Amino acid sequence: MTVMRGEALAALHRVFGYEAFRGEQEAVIEHVIAGGDAVVLMPTGGGKSLCYQIPALVRPGTGVVVSPLIALMQDQVDALRALGVRAGFVNSTQDFDERRVVEAEFLAGELDLLYLAPERLRLEGTLDLLSRGKISVFAIDEAHCVSQWGHDFRPDYLALSLLGERWPEVPRIALTATATHATHREITERLHMPQARHFVASFDRPNIQYRIVPKADPKKQLLAFLREEHAGDAGIVYCLSRNSVEKTAEFLTRNGIEAVPYHAGLDAGTRAAHQARFLREDGLVVVATIAFGMGIDKPDVRFVAHLDLPKSVEGYYQETGRAGRDGLPSTAWMAYGLGDVIQQRKLIQSGEGDESFRRRAHQHLDAMLALCETVRCRRGQLLAYFGQDPDPAGCGNCDTCLTPPETWDGTVAAQKVLSTVVRLQRERGQKFGAVQIVDILLGRRTAKVIQFDHDQLSVFGIGEELTEVEWRGVVRQLLAQGLLAVEGEYGTLVLTEASGAVLRREREVPLRKEPKKPVTSRSGGSGASGSGRGERKAAVAELPEALLPAFEALRAWRAEQAREQGVPAYVIFHDATLREIVTVWPTSVAELGGISGVGEKKLATYGEGVVAVLGSLGGPSGAAGGDGAEPDPGPEEEPGFEPEPEPDWA
Ligand code: ADP
Ligand code: ZN
Repeated sequence: MTVMRGEALAALHRVFGYEAFRGEQEAVIEHVIAGGDAVVLMPTGGGKSLCYQIPALVRPGTGVVVSPLIALMQDQVDALRALGVRAGFVNSTQDFDERRVVEAEFLAGELDLLYLAPERLRLEGTLDLLSRGKISVFAIDEAHCVSQWGHDFRPDYLALSLLGERWPEVPRIALTATATHATHREITERLHMPQARHFVASFDRPNIQYRIVPKADPKKQLLAFLREEHAGDAGIVYCLSRNSVEKTAEFLTRNGIEAVPYHAGLDAGTRAAHQARFLREDGLVVVATIAFGMGIDKPDVRFVAHLDLPKSVEGYYQETGRAGRDGLPSTAWMAYGLGDVIQQRKLIQSGEGDESFRRRAHQHLDAMLALCETVRCRRGQLLAYFGQDPDPAGCGNCDTCLTPPETWDGTVAAQKVLSTVVRLQRERGQKFGAVQIVDILLGRRTAKVIQFDHDQLSVFGIGEELTEVEWRGVVRQLLAQGLLAVEGEYGTLVLTEASGAVLRREREVPLRKEPKKPVTSRSGGSGASGSGRGERKAAVAELPEALLPAFEALRAWRAEQAREQGVPAYVIFHDATLREIVTVWPTSVAELGGISGVGEKKLATYGEGVVAVLGSLGGPSGAAGGDGAEPDPGPEEEPGFEPEPEPDWA
């Protein structure tokens, strides 16, 4: 083992309290410590932060981290300081004096990590400051923000290419969770990193269960999903519009689920307050537009729900990826229906941008629709989209694997829909939306049908063999398959070039039957082995009953610590760490130090507190209501353990 590698491993153990590197981490870290540039593609929760934090700790100088997430810098820095890492940030939320302190620390070589917003690198003052200190590594986080086609484009990121010119000897590492080849190439080009080595991790998130349900009454469906599977859990609900964000948050709150709204129309203070509550409180739901979530590294988000269709698979993957960073079972749930397809197509048609922009937007949507309508493994489809090889046998932890949908021959049904569209246009010169088409097929004499004499059409009432829901399903799938298209601001239906083959009986149309019984996380699957009551939280699903009181006692202790220090609870310890603690039940501080996620600094700060909480419960069996006869062991004497001296910022 090289010296550097030994030092990296030592830092992993000592500072972070982790046993071993995960996946590509070791290779990335070794490469960067040796001075190489790296482009790192890892899914959310994959462990990107260590890839630059450890090189910053091992190499001489300060690691400079460029991140667009100003609102989260304070928490990131707090979390690092709780680990004993000398971290600071410079951004527009600070006043002059605060900034001066951090700058002075940087110049004095007293910082391991310095977080900067990208816009600061446009300022000559910042560049000048950086050139007067010693830099160990540049980390460019959320590197996909450099991509002009992406959904998170930040013009300031384009200026980051100058880092390599100005500091050619400092290694650069660009990191992102967005994995398509196009984005990957753009990052490499625009950041001018032709020499970089590329590290592409597996994009699978096995602990996330993917489910897409047919949309009927979405708010009620959401409520049932939350009540049955995620009572008391923290999660994010995504909606397309500000209005539906507000309404959904209200609806949940009225129904006993604490939820706060988040969208760009709220003032900055409210947004920050809601975000802070989400990070700090246990079990809060945020209902948000896509304005929310980038860089939110709350590890115990147990579900991400979509009430509207995301615009692209990339967006869907990023948003759902915010669930389950701690590796515990989590759910990505979406309600999707005909209205979504029409709405998204309309948005693209009437939106800004030139023809090529629209074409791309349609392609993105097509890929998203294919994911929604697939009869095969959703995870497999996602991985294939990102250019990775899925397990051909399926994942066993998505709705289509758990309850494989049936298909049926929808050729005749498709012909009926398409002929109705054709007749309206040829015989009447009219175009109508899906509602009218379905009413005609079902032979309904609605006011609008009578107004336009549509009961005189030969196709009137030819579709009584299917229900309204089923016809809407047919129309939706025809749209998704490109056999129908949406036009204009009213979302009228028109034929496509491919429609002709269906009408001429040259092409069959297999359609997906909607599953009758919805899948729940308890339907089985590798990622969700919870066995018990509906109200039991997913996070503790695998803990034996006898250990639950101890887990809850530690959470209560953690909440108090977090409140006192004004930091999110997970900055103290993650749920996963607390679970391991109650499972191992350490009786001494030294024993506690062997648990994953307990590094030196945390052991020194919280070790006695944790052991005291466990001691007061009287052992794992006592925790289940035992005798309480065990005396409180009190603080342990630990001869071999030297707490680190308090750094001067503490
Ligand atoms: P990303 O930035 O890629 O989304 P993070 O860096 O936030 O992911 O890491 C996700 C979670 O995994 C964090 O809780 C982190 O502490 C944990 N983690 C990262 N690397 C390791 C490791 N080698 N061993 C154990 N846990 C790890
Ligand atoms: Zn699957």
